Parts: sequence; C-alpha cells; structure tokens
Amino acid sequence: MTFCFSLHGIGISHGVAIGRVRLVSHATLEVSHYAIEPDQISAELHRLERAVQEVRYELKVLRAEMAADERVEEIEAFIEVHETLLNDEILAENVRAYIAEHGCNAEWALVQQMGTWVAQFEQIEDPYLRERKFDVMQVVERILKRLMGRPGMLPKNDDETHTILVAHDLSPADLLQFKHRHFAAFITDLGGATSHTAIAARGLGVPALVGTRHARQLLRDGEMVIVDSARGTVLVNPDHAILSEYRKLQKAQEAHRESLKALKWRRPLTRDGVEVSLLANIEVPGDLDKVRASGAQGIGLFRSEFLYLNQDALPDEETQFEAYRHVVEGMEGQPVTLRTLDLGADKMRGGIDSLARVAPNPAMGLRAIRLCFAEQPLFMTQLRAVLRASAYGKIKLLVPMLSGSDEIRPLLAAIEEAKHRLDEEGMAFDRALEIGAMIEVPSAALALGPFLRQLDFLSIGTNDLTQYLLAVDRTDEAVSHLYNSTHPAMLRLLAHILKRAHQAKVPISLCGEMADDPAMTWLLLGLGLRQFSMPSAGLLAIKERVLNADVGALQKAVARIVRTEEPDKVKTLIEKLNRG
Ligand code: PEP
Ligand code: MG
Repeated sequence: MTFCFSLHGIGISHGVAIGRVRLVSHATLEVSHYAIEPDQISAELHRLERAVQEVRYELKVLRAEMAADERVEEIEAFIEVHETLLNDEILAENVRAYIAEHGCNAEWALVQQMGTWVAQFEQIEDPYLRERKFDVMQVVERILKRLMGRPGMLPKNDDETHTILVAHDLSPADLLQFKHRHFAAFITDLGGATSHTAIAARGLGVPALVGTRHARQLLRDGEMVIVDSARGTVLVNPDHAILSEYRKLQKAQEAHRESLKALKWRRPLTRDGVEVSLLANIEVPGDLDKVRASGAQGIGLFRSEFLYLNQDALPDEETQFEAYRHVVEGMEGQPVTLRTLDLGADKMRGGIDSLARVAPNPAMGLRAIRLCFAEQPLFMTQLRAVLRASAYGKIKLLVPMLSGSDEIRPLLAAIEEAKHRLDEEGMAFDRALEIGAMIEVPSAALALGPFLRQLDFLSIGTNDLTQYLLAVDRTDEAVSHLYNSTHPAMLRLLAHILKRAHQAKVPISLCGEMADDPAMTWLLLGLGLRQFSMPSAGLLAIKERVLNADVGALQKAVARIVRTEEPDKVKTLIEKLNRG
C-alpha cells in the first residue's frame, strides 16, 4: 500500500522532474550504537574486513575512472593516501581491538577511533601532516557507507536521468562531483535559495528543492516522486492522473526550452532599442561548453573558489594558471570576469577549513578577501596565476566582500606587488588588467565613492547583499521566509547603486541569483541594470524577457515600486509589472 503525500521546500529553478528516489547520506552523522554478543564478535570483525575490501575496490575503480581526467596526478596522490590509510595495520588493529573490548558494532568502533586519530593529527606541528586528518575522516566515511549499505561513490545507474537524489545536506563540493552526471533533480533538507549548494545545483540546470526539512527521513529509496521546483513541492507516490498532468507540463516546458534555442544568436536588444549584455556565471572550467551553447557574451562571474573544493591540497600557481588560461582561451576574445577566492562561510572543504577556522559566525568572519588578506601567500599565488593568464585573453579581476577603502588600498597594493614580481621574473601579463569589486556588503553599497573612483568596474552580488542587509543567513532554511531580494530596502539600495555607477560612468553588472530569475528581469531593467550575469542554463529565458521589454515604460512603473515600503505590496506590483 502506498500513500500519496506532498513535501514542501524552496524551489531553486523552474523545471519539473519525475523519477525515483535515491537516498544519499553523510554516514558519520547517522551511526548507531549497539551491543554485540561475544560469540558475534568474529562475524563483526569479518563484516568490517569486507567493508574495507570493498573500499579498496572502490578506490581502484576510482583510479581507473579518473585515468582520463586532466588532474590525474593530484587525484592519484589522494587515492594513494587513502589506500595507505586503509592498509595501515595499526589503524585497523585499533578498531578491531575496540570492537572486541567494548562488544560494540563496527560502525561505532570506527567513529570512536576516528575521534582519537583526528585528535592525534591535530597535535602534529607540521601543517601538511596535520591536514591528513581530513583524509582519515574521508576514509572512515567511505568504510561507514559500505558498512551501512550505502556506497561512497554513487554507483552509475543505467538511467540516472530518472533518479532524484535526496540528502539531508549536500555541500557545494558534493554538488561539484555531480557535474558529469545527469540526475533528474536534487532534494535537500537544509539550505536556502541562494546557498552555494543551491547555486551549484542551479548550475547543473536541473530542478532542485532545498530546505524541505524532513525529506531525507520521509522518503524511501525507489519511491516515485514529482519535483515541482516552481511551486516548491515534492509529490510522493502520485496517482496516474497527477502523473499524466505533470508529464504534459514537463513536455510543454521541454518544448519551451527547445524554442528558446532559436534566440541564441539574437542580439539582446529591448523593444525600444536598449542594448543589454547577458553574461554567464561559471564554477569550473568544465562549464565552458554550456556557456558557448547559451550564446553568452562573456563570463560575468567565474567563482574560482570551486577549484579549491574537493582537492586534497590547495592548487598551486601552475594548476591555477592552466585552469584560467583554459577558460580565457576557450572564450576566444570574450571577457572573463574572474573572481578571486571567496572561500569561507558555506564553501569550505578539507584543508581549507583550517585556514578559515571554524568561526562563530562564518558568513561575517574570515571569508573571501578577508581570508585572502589573512593568508597572503594563498592570495599572492592566485594573483600571479590570474595575471599570467591575462596574457592569453581578456580577463577582468573581480574581488568579493570588499567593505570600503580600508580594504581597497591593500588590495591594490597586493596586485601591484604581484605585477612587480612577475616583471622581475620577465613574465607576461595584461598591464591594463581591469580590477573590479563585488558590491555585496551594505557599507560598500552606501559609501560607493572610493569604489567608483579607484576601480574599473562593479558587480552587484545580490545573494550576499540581501543576506547582510536584512540580517538573514542565506543558507538557513529556518529564516528563509525572511530572505527577500525584493524587500523595499533592497530595491532602494539597488536603485541607489545603479544610479551612482551610471553617473560616474563606471560599468556595473549584477551576478547574484536575481539575474537568473525571469520574474526579476523587467524590474532590474527598470532599475537601470544593463549587464546581467547568470548560470548559462537560464540565459536564454532571460534573453526572451529582454527582447520583450520596453525600458521606457518599465522605468516609470519601477520608480513607483521603489517608493513602496510594504514588501507584500512590492510583490503585487512586480507581478503587475510582469503582466505587461
Ligand atoms: C552574490 O553574493 O550575489 C554572489 C554572486 O556571490 P556568491 O553567491 O558566490 O556569494
Ligand atoms: Mg557573494
């Protein structure tokens, strides 16, 4: 007997997906503890040994699969470390002894031992060796998943296009691993609409729902579900009538997506002849194909920090240089706006965690440019790599989280220093490299003068600007009802930023998720925005809105919206605006 029911969350794209549930988990969070009778201990040890064997095999497969990857050396190195740990007799003996001594299940023994090992690694002075604690944690996680019947690498299904991944939480790094897979949709219990997990999922161009709270508990493996991202619902075990309605809707959406392809070569001009630029956001060089398919006029935001996730060691200058050069050459003369590291807050992984430390309030802590100032060698390595790549095409350097002139000064000094060193080494770079700032901290938005005077361009980061202006954590589903990028205070601030930048004739774009929402396009045009940057999957839908816009009429209607102080009223007025 199956029951039809629905779950609700925050839809982060507009499609519909129909498929079967696959539960994924972070095993260490879910380990149970139970007693083992003395006569069952040898069976428990055998179970542990079998799981270890399976992980050995898993790593072997991983090595074979990665053979074609460009970063093969680093990946091999990390597999080797994991294999060494797996084969370490002392570690294995610790766990076996724990099981025998405490008469407990293998999962519990592993997690207890992991705590001890991690504590030991943390005592080590050598930073490289200290970082190995993350390898220990990853190896333990893999073994746990085997013990608990959930493989660490999601095995390839024949038909992933009908698989819907359901997790309590997925990190941006987890999502990155799915770039080459073709799942139908993602559902997570945690997360807000502009969390980096949501952004990475949107970049995959599939429907996704975050902040469902209990999906991981309520859904069963193999269950049929419909994910309706626009409505923010998951329909579980739908009946035939509902299924056939949704199949029709899905077909209509696919037909619309197909029809949009015809717009690829159309110049983004509004009906009244206003020229607009549509640029793409990317996370890794592998996103380039999608950028080209979208007809984007350049890259408006390359979130370079994604190169640092899922890596055992921080990428060195050469690795970064090659990645940036690959992107800039691939864009064949079109501009690439490369953002310096925005690590910290919800984008943390392995070795980087220790750089950013576990801050009491990470979104307000040592994140982005603050982390770069605190870790000068890390920043210098990136600046050198970017500058060197700028000799191969048009790169613009974008810096996140600047709050005012106190930070602009040391930033410009660091860039000068990097140029000076490259000059001394006889290395080529673009001497006219443009430097720009993300406007995403309210202090920058309100005291814009130094930014306009000292920098070449600006890009508004509405994801963070909303979070910091409204004091609402963008990753926290518990306060997601308060996260509102069209809050009257936000609209006033946006109008102010755009007006000042236009008066100063400083080019300005917007690269937050607002730029990717067709329901926001006319509002933003009316506010004066002319450069939009978004994930390439959404670009043609935005172009369609631009082509149908009449900026003259929009400006008048939007001026009225900006005067409104009630959030609900603003929403109603935007709906009216969009009806034309
Ligand atoms: C933003 O804050 O709007 C932005 C584009 O940057 P990120 O989402 O990477 O913080
Ligand atoms: Mg930001």
